[in-house]
Amino acid sequence: MNLPYDCLVIGAGFAGAVAAREMAERGGMRVLVLERRNHIAGNAYDPADAAGVVIHQYGPHIFHTRDQRVFDYLSRFTRWRDYQHRVVANVHGVELPVPFNLTSLEMAYGPDRAPALEKKLLDTYGAETKVTILDLRRNGDPEIKALADYVYENIFLHYTMKQWDQSPEEIDPNTTARVPVFLSRDDRYFQDPWQGMPLEGYTALFRRLLDHPNITVELGTDARARMGLGEDGVTLDGAPFAGPVIYTGAVDELFDCRFGRLPYRTLEFRFETHPVDFYQSHGTVNYTVSEPWTRITEFKYLTGQDLPGVTTIAKEISHAYTGAADETPYYPIINPENQALYARYEALTRRLGHFYLLGRLAEYKYYNMDAIVARALTLCDGLLQPKE
Ligand code: FAD
Ligand code: UDP
Repeated sequence: MNLPYDCLVIGAGFAGAVAAREMAERGGMRVLVLERRNHIAGNAYDPADAAGVVIHQYGPHIFHTRDQRVFDYLSRFTRWRDYQHRVVANVHGVELPVPFNLTSLEMAYGPDRAPALEKKLLDTYGAETKVTILDLRRNGDPEIKALADYVYENIFLHYTMKQWDQSPEEIDPNTTARVPVFLSRDDRYFQDPWQGMPLEGYTALFRRLLDHPNITVELGTDARARMGLGEDGVTLDGAPFAGPVIYTGAVDELFDCRFGRLPYRTLEFRFETHPVDFYQSHGTVNYTVSEPWTRITEFKYLTGQDLPGVTTIAKEISHAYTGAADETPYYPIINPENQALYARYEALTRRLGHFYLLGRLAEYKYYNMDAIVARALTLCDGLLQPKE
């Protein structure tokens, strides 16, 4: 049978959409994209809610990168709104900048005690440096150690317990290293040279990314209903499919979780609409010592939407992912045991031939959007290289 497609992509998030565009445009292939949800844009999907407020349905997404290729690539599909994300931690009613920085130090320790400690920190680590909380706690100086314990207790411990149900020592150290102590007065959450929000939103960016005559997108379609994985490779609608298959879903699901489910944390988003211009002081407020939620995001700060008299917020509450149909696996739980389980599934895909795992779910890694775009471009560079 002569199939009308040369390449199959599963998932229309950043991984799938960028890969589809590359294979279609650069590779000249006819690409079929299958997406389980009834919309494109994956977890970056940003519809307007009933009150007309643009929200991020699957959690707040702020774009930031140091990778010029990624920025230039996405800039083909969107213009940008300058937005520098700033976060505060609500610590018993006081709002301290996060990452904990020299301003946070002054607020926490007061004008009499902060300057000497600031000098000691700068002499030890240097100005404008980032020190992880776990490293700071290893410092032998009693005053620095006391500060580290303060930051640990008030910023990291309870937030991390809520988010992961594990302490900062128990989780992958790269995770807390995402939010280091920053010896600076720069109070932005990210220091990447390019950061902002797509001017007309993520979904519009994805619409342009997928708008190519060689790309067909089928929404509301679980690939597992169309694609077969056998000893001889992949079938699509029952017929052998010899072209590249780029899979961006969870890898355990492909094999009916036969070795057990890959563990994830899921999130419950409690959206609330309030009849005020703004509900809180910053785009995101972290609740690091109180409340069941980890953070509250107010989308109007991120999007810049001009809509007086109404605003929508989302409270994020983290739970263990059970695999229930109404849950989304958001955060892989990185540890040696889970990575070994992942490796067993990954090994099963290797015998399928031209089958590629790409993205935060398929690779079971904690990637930001820009890293996924970079990985999609690199994968396609390899696949589209002229054969010797
Ligand atoms: P996804 O966006 O999850 O896309 C995968 C797609 O595949 C989904 O649409 C899914 O429905 C589909 N799919 C899965 N299985 C199947 C199947 N069997 N058949 C058909 N379709 C299928 N990154 C940042 O850079 N900045 C941020 O501020 C940021 N904030 C975040 C906040 C939260 C709460 C979370 C959880 C993540 C955040 N990220 C952020 C990370 C970002 O979400 C990911 O990097 C990005 O979504 C990864 O894209 P992806 O295509 O790999 O995965
Ligand atoms: N974290 C914390 N307190 C904070 C912010 C972050 O303990 O106020 C820790 C927590 O373990 C979290 C990790 O740092 O999971 C990474 O935070 P980030 O904001 O990067 O997480 P994401 O936005 O990806 O959920």
